[in-house]
Amino acid sequence: MIPVNTPNLSGREKEYLIECIDSGWISSEGPFVKRFENEFSNYIGRSHGIAVSNGSAALDVAIRALNLPKGSEVIVPSFTIISPVQSLVNEGLIPVLVDSQTDTWNMDVELIETKISKNTRAILVVHIYGLPTDMDPILELAKNYDLKIVEDAAEMHGQAYYGKKCGSFGDISTFSFYPNKHITTGEGGMILTDDDQLAQRCKELRNLCFTPARRFVHHELGWNYRMTNMQAALGVAQLEQIEKIIERKREIGDRYNQNLKGVYRLQLPLTKTSYAHNIYWVYGLVAESEELANELQYKFRELKIGTRPFFWCMHEQPVFHQMSLFNNESYPVAEKLARQGFYIPSGLGLTNDEIDHVSEALIGMLRDG
Ligand SMILES: *Cc1c(COP(=O)(O)O)cnc(C)c1O
Repeated sequence: MIPVNTPNLSGREKEYLIECIDSGWISSEGPFVKRFENEFSNYIGRSHGIAVSNGSAALDVAIRALNLPKGSEVIVPSFTIISPVQSLVNEGLIPVLVDSQTDTWNMDVELIETKISKNTRAILVVHIYGLPTDMDPILELAKNYDLKIVEDAAEMHGQAYYGKKCGSFGDISTFSFYPNKHITTGEGGMILTDDDQLAQRCKELRNLCFTPARRFVHHELGWNYRMTNMQAALGVAQLEQIEKIIERKREIGDRYNQNLKGVYRLQLPLTKTSYAHNIYWVYGLVAESEELANELQYKFRELKIGTRPFFWCMHEQPVFHQMSLFNNESYPVAEKLARQGFYIPSGLGLTNDEIDHVSEALIGMLRDG
């Protein structure tokens, strides 16, 4: 079996975890939490890092912290994981969807301006699969229309846009450290910002909005979204290896690209754009038809090679239709990606032999089909 993802925990993860056990510091009060917050926010180039229990929690907190008026519109891609859109809806905000680009699979920034109304308050950028969203036009729009930027950089650890790190563009930015991300804490997430007040607000929200004046007296509701010292210990160890990890992820992507060069009926990921070199969070493929996508995933399963389908569009989610959201909306590129896209094994545990084996299997399927 070649799984779609396996993490690499070959650094000082075990040593730091043992330190947690030996010292008895296992809760969020332990020293690794602050250390991870400082080291990760420094790495991305931001003033504050607020560690939380996962990437979806980071979005909940980030969006609540912005304190946008209920009913405000927030522009967001239809082709995304549900987390950012769920956070908006849960906060009483209205997600306004935008279609994707066919080549980078990110939000098509040229379509954003037509979606801006007098109620728009923010653009929520979700960088997809390994290439950043084209940020310059978004920064320009945010300036011209006085919009906040929320940046979901959960798939972009270490990626940069024209040399500036992803996660440093939002008024508030978020990361996930789920095991399939470039660096992992098992479950975990972080909010980054340069704004002192926003950072303070995020700290309160992640910790049940305890008030310092009198513990157990609350003026508002938050969550318990704290990260444990054990998770943060993993994070510190992972961060020590991040450059190596990114280099290896790029090697994996480049090797697939080399092996699969010239295949037909299948679109490969872009190696680079003018502003970034792909870091291949996952190695995604888009088949020329839905039937071919299903057939290839079926055959991979028979060969015990793991695959995953791409995200499913937000405007086609039953849960949102039940809320009368996005009815009769259509975003053709996002729909195509959702139906025809899937990804093949691309985790750090993958060996070059395995990459070659998966590539040969795919080439064989396309030849025989
Ligand atoms: C993984 C991911 C999330 C969610 O992170 P969790 O830690 O799984 O909650 C959010 N946004 C994007 C873009 C992701 O890839």
